[in-house]
Amino acid sequence: MRLQRKPHLATDCYDRYFNEIRSRVDEYFCVLYEFETRRMLDPRDQAPQLFLDKALSLGANPLAVRRLLSALVGQGIHNPSVWGRSFQVPRRLSDAIGILPRLKLDRVVTSPRDGFQKLRFLTADQLALETVLIPLHRDGAVSVCLSSQVGCAMGCVFCATARMTARRNLAAWEIVDQWVQARDLAREQGRRVTGVVFMGMGEPFLNYDRVLSAAELLRCPYGGAVGAKAITISTVGLVPEIDRYTDEGHRFRLSISLGAATDAKRARLVPIAARTPVADVMAAARRHALARGERVMLSYVCIRGENVGEDDAIALGQLVADTKVRFDLIDVSDPTGRFHPPTSAEMKAFRDALTRHLGQPVVRRYSGGADIQAACGTLAGAE
Ligand code: SF4
Repeated sequence: MRLQRKPHLATDCYDRYFNEIRSRVDEYFCVLYEFETRRMLDPRDQAPQLFLDKALSLGANPLAVRRLLSALVGQGIHNPSVWGRSFQVPRRLSDAIGILPRLKLDRVVTSPRDGFQKLRFLTADQLALETVLIPLHRDGAVSVCLSSQVGCAMGCVFCATARMTARRNLAAWEIVDQWVQARDLAREQGRRVTGVVFMGMGEPFLNYDRVLSAAELLRCPYGGAVGAKAITISTVGLVPEIDRYTDEGHRFRLSISLGAATDAKRARLVPIAARTPVADVMAAARRHALARGERVMLSYVCIRGENVGEDDAIALGQLVADTKVRFDLIDVSDPTGRFHPPTSAEMKAFRDALTRHLGQPVVRRYSGGADIQAACGTLAGAE
């Protein structure tokens, strides 16, 4: 059964209009950039199925395509002559692809406190973007936090990315290349990448098609070979895109960041996202949870004196009601010093209150790398 959303006409029209303009501007810069760096065929710039179709039209066979993707994404080998020699990729296909561009790895910084690593890349148009290697509890396992945009138009007040002046969508290949280079670095260190989160710079759903193409390639067994459930895409609550994602049936995890439980508080903390009422965001989350038959992940940046009181816990309980959720609490990290995380006692009181009012799992997520500005909301390409 297809779940129908109750229309909220004025807000929906405004939001769609606003999102349309915003994505067209981003799209314009991305198309311009892709035009300037145009290549005949880049396997990283599209979902694997689409690439397979194009490769077949060039006379390649599915086995050659699998070998190519496994050399390029699985092994990180970008030299076309090696594809032919060692992976038996036909010359016609490698000629159509040619020399592929890479992001320039400019700097790697490691946190002495918790081992988080921040990778700073430069694009061909000299924009800086950042990627984070997150150590996991399992020995030697790491997750990669990827950026989907340079800068972000969502304007969340506690986020350094929102304050960046340069902005554009990243091409799918730039997202995939962050992962390939981070994975190669992890391998050199004897670690293995077991997860991917789209929680770096940018709002992934403002760059929907490219993010989904990149995620498909990272999931593909002969691409990145990361399990769909180990890939998380986060959004600050773009309702049309959440519905699209739900309707398209993607199996990656979705994490929806609420900011606050009331429209008034969201207008202060996440002003652009707050143009959509929080009840509409929650309704989209509910449709997603029902369509998937599983808990939807809600994330919540905790800010002392702003959104961690008993009243916030009560409002969140009423908002979520009977929707099956997993609630992740994250301490705010604001290098400007304007916003502070709750003290341990405040956080414990909020978590207890939330557990009482929600009656569902509440998890405190560690946002590490704060000492090297690699924590959530601190990525800014070292501007
Ligand atoms: S928190 Fe996320 S959505 Fe908000 S401005 Fe920062 S990158 Fe954009």
